[in-house]
Formats: sequence, structure tokens, C-alpha cells
Amino acid sequence: MVTKFLSLQIAKPFIYILLFAAFGAIAYAYINLYNGKTDLNIQIADKQTQIAKLTLDNITLAHIIQKREVQTNSLQSTVAEITAQVNTLEKIKDTDKELLEKYSKVFFLNEHYTPSSISEIPATFLTPNSKKIEIHSQVLSHLEEMIEASRDANNPIQIVSGYRSFGTQANLKTAYKATFGSGANAFSADQGYSEHQLGTTVDVTTPILQSTFVSFEKTPAFKWLQDNAYKYGFVLSYPKNNKYYEYEPWHWRFVGIKLATKLHDDGKNFYDMDQRDIDEYLLNIFDNN
Ligand SMILES: [Zn+2]
Repeated sequence: MVTKFLSLQIAKPFIYILLFAAFGAIAYAYINLYNGKTDLNIQIADKQTQIAKLTLDNITLAHIIQKREVQTNSLQSTVAEITAQVNTLEKIKDTDKELLEKYSKVFFLNEHYTPSSISEIPATFLTPNSKKIEIHSQVLSHLEEMIEASRDANNPIQIVSGYRSFGTQANLKTAYKATFGSGANAFSADQGYSEHQLGTTVDVTTPILQSTFVSFEKTPAFKWLQDNAYKYGFVLSYPKNNKYYEYEPWHWRFVGIKLATKLHDDGKNFYDMDQRDIDEYLLNIFDNN
């Protein structure tokens, strides 16, 4: 028993040393662990700073891209605007200004003038056994639509005259003069002289009247034209009591649907309208509505 007590007394310092060493080891490990954790925290904070910086860069980039997109869009619309202006100018350059000019006993179309393009009117739209009649190529479809509509309305019209060149017109006048003497000047051959040379004008009749179209005024077809011709771009050039020419109920000129509709709605005659106001319709003269 004594011996056991003695050996315990001897071992005691060793136990203390061991305990102290163990405590030291634990403390050391703990400090290391704490330092490691701090390092990790620092690294995390670093990464977070990097992420924040990248996010900021990203936002800045997105702003730059957005700004560039706005600039590109604005540039594209400027290009589109300029292109539209160029197209309009091209269209104006290519549109024959004579098509909406006013001609009277005083103002004539140049004798050398010819339409840019003329086409034959199909025989079905003419009086039977008519010789060929031509019209401005871009007016033809409008004329055909008008004649077909007149047929559908049971007020059929036929064409007796269309494009007449300066030479044809001069010959016609001579022929009429030979037949009717000086009275020929007041007769249809001389009326609307320039308008027939334009190629956009026709003289109309009905299947019943045919060549005796001087009395066209009394037909329901004339009434139908007065109410409907504007829908196809045609107007009566020389209505009753106009101060430019003799009254010609059979003589209809194409001025385009927009202008013809405007004249119809306002109850005005083409020749009474200001030329500057008329010219605004030139660009769209051949439009379909
Ligand atoms: Zn005529």
C-alpha cells in the first residue's frame, strides 16, 4: 500500500507535465484553427469584393451596350428617314408635272409633249368597230375599273376618244373645219385639246348614243359618272358654266383618286382649284386609294 502511494507521488509531476502538454497542444490547435478561419473569412471577403466589382463592371457594360443600342436605333431611323426622303425625291423627279397642269384657251401643252408610256384600251371598252384608242399606261387600269363599275350599275359607258398626239389633233381640227367651217372651233374637236395630248383623258359615250355623244349629258350614264367617276380618279374637266372651255359632259380627265375625291367632297372643279394646292396631289396621282 505504501509502495503504491510512493509511486503515485513520483508519477504526479509527470501527469501534470502531460496534462500541461495536452492543454498546450489543444490551445495550439485551437489558435491554428482560429487563424485558419480568419484566413478563410478574409478570402471570402476578398471574393465578395471581387464579385461586387465584377457586378459593377457588368452594370457599367450593360449601360454602355444600352447606350450603343440607342445610338444604333437612332442611326437606323435617321438612315430610314433619309432613304424615305430620297425615295420621295426620286418619285417627284419621275412624276410628270404636266399630268396635273391646267390647260385652257390660253395655256397649252407643248406641241412636242408625249406621255411617258401609252397603252391600247382593250376593244371591249370601246364602241363597236372602233379604231384603236390609246391611253396613258398608268391610267388604263383605273379606266377599266370605272367602265366595269358602270356596267355593273347598268349605266355602261364606252370610250370614243383617248390619247391624241399633237399631229392627230391638228389633222382632226382640219377635218372638222372642212366639214363644219369656223363652227368647228366651238365643237368638241378643239375642246380639251391639251388634255387629250396628255394621254390621261377620255371622251365617253353609251352603247345607245355611240358617236352621237353630244347628247351624253341627258343619259343616266352621265349622272352615274358625276356621282362615281371620282372613285376611279376621273373628273369632268369642263362642267357647265366654266370659264375655261365650252361645256363638255363627255370629256373626263384622270387626276388621281385622292384629288378627284377631294374635288368631289368639296363640290369644286379641277380648274377652279389653286395650282399650288393641285400640285400636292401629284406624287400620289397613280395610287390605288
Ligand atoms: Zn375630249
